[in-house]
Amino acid sequence: MLFDSVLGLVNDVAIDLGTANTLIYVKGRGVVLNEPSVIAIEKGTGQVVAVGSKAKEMLGRTPDGINAVRPMKDGVIADFDGTEDLLREFILQVQRRRLLVRPRMVICVIGVGLPVEKPSGNMVVDIGGGTTEIAVIALSGIVNHTSVRVGGDEMDEAIMNHLRRSYNLLIGEQTAEQIKIQIGSAYPLEEEMEVDVKGRDLVGGVPRTLKITSEEIREALQEPISAIVEALKLSLEETPPELAADLVDRGIVMTGGGALLRGLDVLLREETKLPINVVENPLTCVVLGTGRILDNLSHYEPVLMRSAKR
Ligand code: ADP
Ligand code: MG
Repeated sequence: MLFDSVLGLVNDVAIDLGTANTLIYVKGRGVVLNEPSVIAIEKGTGQVVAVGSKAKEMLGRTPDGINAVRPMKDGVIADFDGTEDLLREFILQVQRRRLLVRPRMVICVIGVGLPVEKPSGNMVVDIGGGTTEIAVIALSGIVNHTSVRVGGDEMDEAIMNHLRRSYNLLIGEQTAEQIKIQIGSAYPLEEEMEVDVKGRDLVGGVPRTLKITSEEIREALQEPISAIVEALKLSLEETPPELAADLVDRGIVMTGGGALLRGLDVLLREETKLPINVVENPLTCVVLGTGRILDNLSHYEPVLMRSAKR
């Protein structure tokens, strides 16, 4: 298997290798690494120059000889070598801090504290960087799973496209992400906001500053957000009736960084007429949940075995 060489190093460690962020949990220590899934590589030699936040700072502004990339950007492992390098560097960082003595295993599951051992159905919507994963879980197994290639990255792209088309202003992915986090929304806000955006004028070629409002960013985000809503509705239609009835009571749990977009919960509530709950820590809950399993392996064994069969 591709990652054997890397994963063989570790033990009692849970890794959430996300398209945007990677988190590592060590049993008994908690989360020991939380970094963007970005790697910077020297072009000629293939040597790793930087990983994580240092590499993320280089995205879109690397000198000629260096390539900063997100190897899993589109939700699948698009760049195997880059992904393997990234994972190895992160594990080495953790090991250098001498936190790992006798490694045992690596797993990744949805860890949002749902009572999945009970027969009732739960729906989890995980909006990450590259993908949105929708899963219906019951009796410790996944009943239905959908993955669409729309997530936070598409929202960033929509913001970039809007500024280019409407104002001839070129901005980078990072600036777009900041705008999304600062004023982005999926539903009208009680108090709309505005922010100054710096970019490069497409016509004059010079740097320029522009004021933009939360209303127009919401408009720009409509396409990726509708895609998420549609995927969710489709998944609800495919849910077996008995479980669908459970969802009416229990609602849908939202996680992943995209769940933090303002008003997305309100919009989904309106669109589905179901209760929507956002988990407490959308960016860390997967690795925390996996860690909880590591801490209580015997208790979770039946769940793990059933999931492994699928
Ligand atoms: P992955 O599991 O794919 O690595 P994450 O769950 O870490 O993804 O989520 C990363 C995504 O969440 C990014 O697109 C990021 O821009 C987005 N994000 C993080 N914080 C916020 C926020 N406050 N509002 C909207 N989007 C956010
Ligand atoms: Mg994730």
